Amino acid sequence: MKIHFADIAWSDAPRFWLANARIPVCLLANPAMSADVDPEGVLRVDVLVEDGKIARIVPALDARDDAIARVDLGGRQVWPTLIDVHTHLDKGHSIERNPNIDGTFNNARLAAAADRQNWKAPDLRRRMGFGLRCAHAHGVSAIRTHIDTYHDNAERSWPVLREMREEWAGRVDLQAVSLCPIELLMESFGDRVAAIVKESGGLLGGVTRPAIGTHGAPQANIDEQLDRLFALAIRHDLDIDLHVDETDDPAAATLPIIAHSALRHGYKGRVVCGHCCSLAVQSESEIDRTLDLLAEADISIVTLPTVNMYLQDRRSGRTPRWRGVTVVHEMIKRGIPVAAAGDNCRDSFYAYGDHDMVDTFRQAVRILHFDHPLSEAPSLVASVPSRIAKFEGHGLIGEGAPARLIVFNARSLNEIVSRPQADRVVLEGGRRLAAKLPDYSELWADDDLPGTTAAAE
Ligand SMILES: [Zn+2]
Repeated sequence: MKIHFADIAWSDAPRFWLANARIPVCLLANPAMSADVDPEGVLRVDVLVEDGKIARIVPALDARDDAIARVDLGGRQVWPTLIDVHTHLDKGHSIERNPNIDGTFNNARLAAAADRQNWKAPDLRRRMGFGLRCAHAHGVSAIRTHIDTYHDNAERSWPVLREMREEWAGRVDLQAVSLCPIELLMESFGDRVAAIVKESGGLLGGVTRPAIGTHGAPQANIDEQLDRLFALAIRHDLDIDLHVDETDDPAAATLPIIAHSALRHGYKGRVVCGHCCSLAVQSESEIDRTLDLLAEADISIVTLPTVNMYLQDRRSGRTPRWRGVTVVHEMIKRGIPVAAAGDNCRDSFYAYGDHDMVDTFRQAVRILHFDHPLSEAPSLVASVPSRIAKFEGHGLIGEGAPARLIVFNARSLNEIVSRPQADRVVLEGGRRLAAKLPDYSELWADDDLPGTTAAAE
């Protein structure tokens, strides 16, 4: 029987079967039932939803002779709502006001620093709220955002973050990481940053490039900088999430130094490193040595494929020669956890995006060659980031978990990767989510749109 997606009768009942669903095994909390898995690593199941939670997952049957309502999905894919484990909600949607004149990393950095003066609470609320509404409507239920934490804005941005986290709890769960060049933490400011992070329930972060400049060879005092970072983290019992080696300069090799530092300070399993682009342009033996260290220090990696492809190897008037991403396949082969995430959205570091992790997933598959087979690809944006960031109740479909799900008008992973999935249905607490994408006019009124003639008049 053919069931058209538009004809599916979604249920508001407290108890119903999501029948005839396909779920990738890598997204199941209990993959033990995976006997009848198809060549894409996908299993056909019926899912019992009860009081907003997943009560049972059983092999699919054409008919069940119980009296429970049945929503027949016609063999379509069901995923958990997704996780964006590395983004910058505080910078997002500032592109019209603050464009990057040539798309390079250095001008992105300068433009972002200049824009921070505009980050008063109402501006932050408006742009962060817009980003969260986009993510929510797209089926993203957990976000780890980095928050620029400099002398000029730390005291303004974190209260807004705490407010938004409260407001969005249960719809989009938020984690936050402080972000500034780690050399700034060497001063007494480092104590203030760690205290703000602690009182906000966040993570200690930072970027390993110099305060003024771009990523390159490690700074002479990098060990002291890292000792200070780890000392602050240990004092306040904070996990760490860093921006590392975001360049194609092979001399940028901070990653193994961070791994040594994590081992020296007994911080195994508590450090996440994002980007790590330059590792991909180092020699095979250097890559090998660094991967050994990452595995030993139990460091998790986040790759940001769309932003790496945008910023890396960009020179005006010249066609880029490389994709900018780190050695994801090699890391996974070593057992190093790797997640993919969205990073910047419509700001000076990345001009595009909509906080849509399905879009990030589809692009990641292509940029990373994470296909043939596609079977493990969904874990990059769901189960792995859930584990890396300890997002309880997100990223896996299992009995007892909240029924926060995405139903795709697609039966195979190939069908998911091939189309934008703009017609996906998001379920929250088992109910079809009514939230729609916010209109751009809610961000800036047309006559207020920065950079336009109307706004300039
Ligand atoms: Zn970032």
